[in-house]
Amino acid sequence: MPVNLNILVDPDVSHFLTMELDQHLMEVFPVTNIDVLESVKLPITCWNKSRRQYNAHCLLAFAASHNSSGIVMLIFSKDAFVSGLNFVFGVASRGVGAVVSIYRLENDPGFLKKEVTHELGHVFGLEHCTLPCVMTFSNSVWEARLKSSAFCEKCSRQLKQAF
Ligand SMILES: [Zn+2]
Ligand SMILES: [Zn+2]
Repeated sequence: MPVNLNILVDPDVSHFLTMELDQHLMEVFPVTNIDVLESVKLPITCWNKSRRQYNAHCLLAFAASHNSSGIVMLIFSKDAFVSGLNFVFGVASRGVGAVVSIYRLENDPGFLKKEVTHELGHVFGLEHCTLPCVMTFSNSVWEARLKSSAFCEKCSRQLKQAF
């Protein structure tokens, strides 16, 4: 089954960060086509003025509504939160798509690749994993830095069965 991935990028995200992302995602996920749409303006309605952060679920709903077919991934520059957490790297919805903030990723394309892979793993049905695996939950930048950038054997197997 052909699976299309639409990557939306906000204009403040440097091209340097996303340059090699599509090739990596084609290799790792059962995705047959990737379209990248740059200069996507984020809706001001998702901005929380007092927290000075975007509501990640609001952005995910925006990205999903912006998408006509397949899976969507929104990459944006500002910090994000969900209720109950100080910040999130991103959020995902199974079968729909995900959003990832570059704000805490230290301008590192490898770090972004890792977080995008993690969130897309959720989109393809993977849960958090305890093994050395990109699906390990991380609560801090330090933890996220430490986690593996690859799927463990169990998650790889599950991913192949996802479609
Ligand atoms: Zn996760
Ligand atoms: Zn795993």
